[in-house]
Amino acid sequence: MRTQIVAGNWKMNNTYSEGIDLINQLIEKSDSIKDAQLIIAPPYILTSEAAKIIKNKNIDLAGQNCSNHPDGAYTGEISASMLKYAGANYVILGHSERRAYYHETDQIINEKIKLSLENELMPIICCGEVLNEREENKQFEIVAKQINGMLKEISPEDIKNIIIAYEPVWAIGTGKTATPDQAQEIHLFIREKIKNIYGTEIANNISILYGGSCKPSNAKELFANPDVDGGLIGGASLKADDFIEIANSF
Ligand code: PEP
Repeated sequence: MRTQIVAGNWKMNNTYSEGIDLINQLIEKSDSIKDAQLIIAPPYILTSEAAKIIKNKNIDLAGQNCSNHPDGAYTGEISASMLKYAGANYVILGHSERRAYYHETDQIINEKIKLSLENELMPIICCGEVLNEREENKQFEIVAKQINGMLKEISPEDIKNIIIAYEPVWAIGTGKTATPDQAQEIHLFIREKIKNIYGTEIANNISILYGGSCKPSNAKELFANPDVDGGLIGGASLKADDFIEIANSF
C-alpha cells in the first residue's frame, strides 16, 4: 500500500512564536491520525527548533525549497545539506510560486532534486498547469513535460525516494479546487507516465499528492480517488484543526 501523506506548506506565514504555537497544537492533536503521514514545511527560521519539538512525534519536517548549488556565494539561499543538518527529512521543490516568481525551470528543479537526494532529503516535486493551459486542454502535455524535465537522469533507485504533487496553478490559493474527477484523471496520467519510465512496481508505490485549495470540506472526496494519495496543503495548513481534519480524511 502507498504511503498516504498530508504535507503543509506554510509559505512565508506566521511569526516565530505563532509557528511554535502551531507546531505544539499539531502535536497535541496528531494522535487522532491513523492513516496518514503528516509533514510540515515551516519557514527556514523555524526548521531547527521545529525539529527539536517534533522529535519522536507523529510529524515530519520539510524545507520549502533549497538551492541548486551545494554551497558557495549564493546570497540568501539555503543548501540541501543545511536543511538536512537543521533536521528536515523532506523538501518541497518546484512549487509554482518558485517557478513563477523566481523563474525556476525544470532543469534547475532537476539539479535541486539531485542535491536533495544526495543529502537524504526526500523531494516533494510539484507540477501543474496554469489556467489558460487548462482552458486549452494542455494540462497533460504540460505536466508530462515538467515530469520529464524534473526527473532527467533520476535512477529507479532514487525515484523511490520522491513524492509527486500535482498542483493546478489555477487552484492554488484561489478557492477553486480541481473536481475529484479532474484530479483522478491527471493523477492516473502521472502514474502511467512513471510506469512508462520506471515500470509498474515503482509506479504503484509512488505517492502522488493533490494540491490547490484543499480543505476539510473537499479533502474526503479528493482523497477517495484511487490515485490521489494525499495532499499538499497551503492555506488550510495554517490552522491546526483544519490541517488535522484534512489528515483524517482518508
Ligand atoms: C500550495 O501552495 O501548495 C497550495 C496548495 O496552496 P493552497 O492550499 O492555499 O491552495
